[in-house]
Amino acid sequence: MHRAAFAHAGLNGTYDALRVAPADLPGAVEALRRPGVLGANLSLPHKEAALPLLDSLSRAARAVGAVNTIVHRDGQLHGDNTDSPGLRDALYDAGYIWEEGAEVIVLGAGGAARAAVHALNCGGQNVTVVNRTLERAQAIAADWHAPDAHFQVTALPAHAAPWESAALVVNASSAGLNDPDQTPLDATFLTRLPARTLVYDMVYKPAETRLMREARAAGLNAENGLGMLAHQARLAFRAWTGADVPVSVFLNALTDLTDPGPAPAGSA
Ligand code: NAP
Repeated sequence: MHRAAFAHAGLNGTYDALRVAPADLPGAVEALRRPGVLGANLSLPHKEAALPLLDSLSRAARAVGAVNTIVHRDGQLHGDNTDSPGLRDALYDAGYIWEEGAEVIVLGAGGAARAAVHALNCGGQNVTVVNRTLERAQAIAADWHAPDAHFQVTALPAHAAPWESAALVVNASSAGLNDPDQTPLDATFLTRLPARTLVYDMVYKPAETRLMREARAAGLNAENGLGMLAHQARLAFRAWTGADVPVSVFLNALTDLTDPGPAPAGSA
């Protein structure tokens, strides 16, 4: 995605993937202070561990408690979280209508769920967090400082969540990632949702997850997480370079990721 964005913007830059063990994170972050380095993205398990290694944090990074984007300027490292606004922009693209006070359900309780709670509650939505391990969902609700006391963040077991009134369900759990048979949710809950509800799955591989399949079978709208992936990248690229590259450039670069391509030789 970022190489395509550099090419689109006419900039001479490159983007590489580095595998970094947890013990090596401080050294890897320090190396970003070198001249010529624009910054980095972080993925699991570094998004939270990197916070104390940085010189400054955006409000979103501080509120979410996770950094997915580091921006380097003159030896200073600034931490940002573009997952939250990336989800917000992807939901706009998916046609989600942000009615103030709407009920939304977030599945999962890791960093992605925290980013979703930030995007949704700051957008005036009442959020119920549902997670396999309820205590982790309760920890999110307890830690969260709502910017507007009118809109709540609560944690509930699945059977007690407000399915009948939910306008949106976001899967921020990793269930279904690389496994087309796995789902974070019993399909009977989907049948309790109103017909206009959007089911947004942050998972994008496979392109249609079991959750999405079952949501569509229940007559609901369902989208995968490619839009969020593209938008969080677009926002990170803009922070590094100042260039506002259209999201379509990032999405087009992602087709390779979702295109299953020819079956490997010898496969059934
Ligand atoms: P994480 O910190 O590892 O959290 C994973 C969460 O998934 C936990 O709450 C875990 O529940 C839950 N979970 C795992 N397997 C499950 C299963 N079989 N059934 C029910 N719940 C299950 O991961 P994360 O960083 O928050 O990321 C979560 C997902 O979001 C990943 O798939 C990631 O790829 C995706 N993501 C996508 C984007 C995007 O741009 N589209 C951005 C960020 C993340 P327990 O607490 O019970 O263990």
